[in-house]
Amino acid sequence: MKKSNLKKKYIVKKKYKFYNTIEKDEIKSVSKVMKSGLLSPFLGSWSNIDKIGSFYGGIQVNRFEKHIEKFFSVKHAITVNSWTSGLIAAVGSLDIEPGDEIITSPWTMCATATAIVNWMAIPIFADIDPLTFNIDPKSIKSKISNKTKAIIVPDIFGQSANISEINKIAKKYNLKVISDSAQSMTAKHFGKFAGTQCDIGGFSFNYHKHMQTGEGGVLITNDDHLAERMRLIRNHGEAVVEDKKIKKINNIIGYNFRMGEIEAAIGIEQLKKINKIISKIQKKAKMLNEGLDGLKGLKIPYIDNGNSHVYYYYALQIDNKITNIHRDKIYKELIKENIPVFKNYSLLHLLPMYKNKIAFGKSGYPWKNSVYNKVIKYEKGICPVAEDLNFNKYIGLPMCNFDYTEADIKFIISKFKKIWKKFNLK
Ligand SMILES: *Cc1c(COP(=O)(O)O)cnc(C)c1O
Repeated sequence: MKKSNLKKKYIVKKKYKFYNTIEKDEIKSVSKVMKSGLLSPFLGSWSNIDKIGSFYGGIQVNRFEKHIEKFFSVKHAITVNSWTSGLIAAVGSLDIEPGDEIITSPWTMCATATAIVNWMAIPIFADIDPLTFNIDPKSIKSKISNKTKAIIVPDIFGQSANISEINKIAKKYNLKVISDSAQSMTAKHFGKFAGTQCDIGGFSFNYHKHMQTGEGGVLITNDDHLAERMRLIRNHGEAVVEDKKIKKINNIIGYNFRMGEIEAAIGIEQLKKINKIISKIQKKAKMLNEGLDGLKGLKIPYIDNGNSHVYYYYALQIDNKITNIHRDKIYKELIKENIPVFKNYSLLHLLPMYKNKIAFGKSGYPWKNSVYNKVIKYEKGICPVAEDLNFNKYIGLPMCNFDYTEADIKFIISKFKKIWKKFNLK
């Protein structure tokens, strides 16, 4: 990002230290890889014999995958060059036909839904829960049709969606479930990790996530068949199926989604300290909770039943009915006071691509094709809870963009209090 853009995104003048978890160990591991000269020995053809190059990638990649499998107690970890790639591979691994519908949330990063469009399937947006910002199981149920094949469940802001309820629905209607846990690595739902209670889960390792490899991501699953299909999509599957004697070749359109050795080496070191990284952030969130709880009309993050929270964002809500002052006015004051908050997250159904239904070419594919003859509307009003939060209530403080010091947190709390006093909110 150019400097001028950075300024535009964070219109605050106070300098917060940028989030940085890279330390000596990462640098040491990366130099070792650099000295070896083997930066990515992946081969885009079927070969599992050579020690140097293989269809499954290099030494660091394989080691990192083993560590992820152990950490999350899952059968397969498949690293990828971004979680966007991971989501595309995940959707492709399912038996999706053009014109099938996949339900997801509008309140997530755009890649969650783009992964669906990528396979000519149709994203159907369910509304979110007004307290957790996560997809609402009741709304999912109301959006199921005879075309529905899967649900992509984002675990947003640092806590798991209500996956136990969603799994019940999926079972009843025979739907696959993908968890997008990019923002909730190590968060738990009734004692189990987010991303592990579904067919396919996974995480992003981009610079702004809890742990990073620069760019990168990982898919996790306990399903051998889906794992094999995702590995094929990761690495030029169409050129591999014949030699690997694979008969089921639908959607094995391969990409180069491979992770390099340098990123994997960084990931191994980052994973070792993930718990430390998370508790540091949780400590800051606790300070914020103690400082902000009780301010009139301000709701601190709600933690759902059975969940732990890893606070990718510290998501607040302003109840205008109680404050009598609109969220936007309070937001403006916060920015003036150098608090790096956001007032909108995302309403995917209102993006130009969906509103105008233009993706592949100019004539409306995949919404208009020979097998899909339904008319889906993406417009204001289809997800009223998400829209109300976005336009009237939500204020979010990113926790993985800056490494707030204790003094920063105290500063943030004091500014909230100052603004509340100014508006006479007691
Ligand atoms: C970050 C993020 C992604 C995309 O991950 P990348 O590694 O940047 O491609 C997808 N979904 C959610 C919810 C995210 O937060």
